[in-house]
Amino acid sequence: MHLQIPKALIDSLQNVKGFDEDAFVKAHEQNEAITSIRYNPAKSAIDNLQSAINIPWCPHGFYLPERPSFTFDPLFHAGTYYVQEASSMFLWQMLKQTVGENLSGLKVLDLCAAPGGKSTLLASYFKDGLIVANEVIRSRANILVENITKWGSENVVVTNNDPKDFSKLKGFFDVILIDAPCSGSGLFRKDNDAINEWSEENVILCSRRQQRIAADVLPSLKEDGILIYSTCSYSKQEDEDILDWMISNHQLSTINCQPNEEWNIVETVSEKGAFGYRFYPDKIKGEGFFIAAFKKTDGETGDSYFSTSFVIPSKHESALAKEWIKEDDGLFLFKQNEKIIAIEERWKNDIVFLQNNLYLRKAGVALGSVKGNDFVPEHELALSSLMNDKIRKVELTKEQAIQYLQKKELVLEDDIKGWALATYLDKNLGWIKILHNRVNNYYPKEWRILKD
Ligand code: SAM
Repeated sequence: MHLQIPKALIDSLQNVKGFDEDAFVKAHEQNEAITSIRYNPAKSAIDNLQSAINIPWCPHGFYLPERPSFTFDPLFHAGTYYVQEASSMFLWQMLKQTVGENLSGLKVLDLCAAPGGKSTLLASYFKDGLIVANEVIRSRANILVENITKWGSENVVVTNNDPKDFSKLKGFFDVILIDAPCSGSGLFRKDNDAINEWSEENVILCSRRQQRIAADVLPSLKEDGILIYSTCSYSKQEDEDILDWMISNHQLSTINCQPNEEWNIVETVSEKGAFGYRFYPDKIKGEGFFIAAFKKTDGETGDSYFSTSFVIPSKHESALAKEWIKEDDGLFLFKQNEKIIAIEERWKNDIVFLQNNLYLRKAGVALGSVKGNDFVPEHELALSSLMNDKIRKVELTKEQAIQYLQKKELVLEDDIKGWALATYLDKNLGWIKILHNRVNNYYPKEWRILKD
């Protein structure tokens, strides 16, 4: 299908760095479908990607030769990879060049996080950090929880708050990503409806909203902290002009990221001297994207937060729960309602602080609950890196795995009774309970595959 780009957009881009009208229009006319995924290093699925080509700016990113049916791939549901647009994986490079590698213990906020593409990248990048993935729209926070749960990292907290709620957390974060809601012109090839929804008025509206979001969240970035700003819009009002607004209104200094020249990413400099990086579909194998980074040069460094008490499980409950997880001295267990939840001990105070200020949808990994002498495991545990490898597994065929993910009845020739992990190619899918005459399927109903 030929995509008709709005003339007003083309006109507005004439003086924008890197814009080449003919090539840009042609790239949209050709409308090439590019499929890329980023694999989850914690679940090491890379062996399945041998036929794929690496995305140069992200070590875990791959282009696929064609688009498979992700819905019917059990490995997708097991969280072994995330389907993500290639340009946006450049975030990995920005982090490498601004925050550096091998830094431990950083607190990172992904302010506009749903459905969770960049949060899962952050969780892989900051394996040793605490990630707060926030989404203001409630219904979108659900899909964020689902994707974070599938990714299986224990160091992600999901919140459902307005950006202004973060202004209370003075100097809390070391890194903040604002992947701002925008007019979406960069995704015209992927989302054809976005073309009809595009208007100059909406660009202006988005640009005002982007300023408001930045102003609300900036107090929570500590001095010397890194702010990364990105959009999937080509419009200068949402890109370079926002960078100018940021340096005019806040104590921020621009960071030059110097991408490899061969990558064909266009470096732009705003009127006030801030660097930004533009991705055009006629120059790179990916969609339209814009990203920039700043260092904050003032602000508080808030580290000492007062902690309140947790409900601690009894010895009996802890002992039962610990049988299901890997030995790990650094874990702290607490109870919320009946569920036993594991978080890393060192994030305990921070999580209480977040809990006191925000609406937490998920923190750490829910392990399960104790019913008498039994432990009823949670789905989150099955997908997390905390799982005890000794828990019994039942390997399913692809057909059985899909039936399991559809939450259909399973027939297995396994007569050892009790709880077991359903796996496919050795990747955990979720829980089953083998009874005398049937197998109970514990896959979460709301996540089941609906298609046949
Ligand atoms: N970072 C996500 C990813 O990589 O999967 C994509 C984020 S999308 C570009 C922008 C998000 O901002 C949407 O989930 C949207 O619901 C949210 N949003 C909309 N209005 C907002 C506002 N006023 N403040 C903060 N976030 C908002």
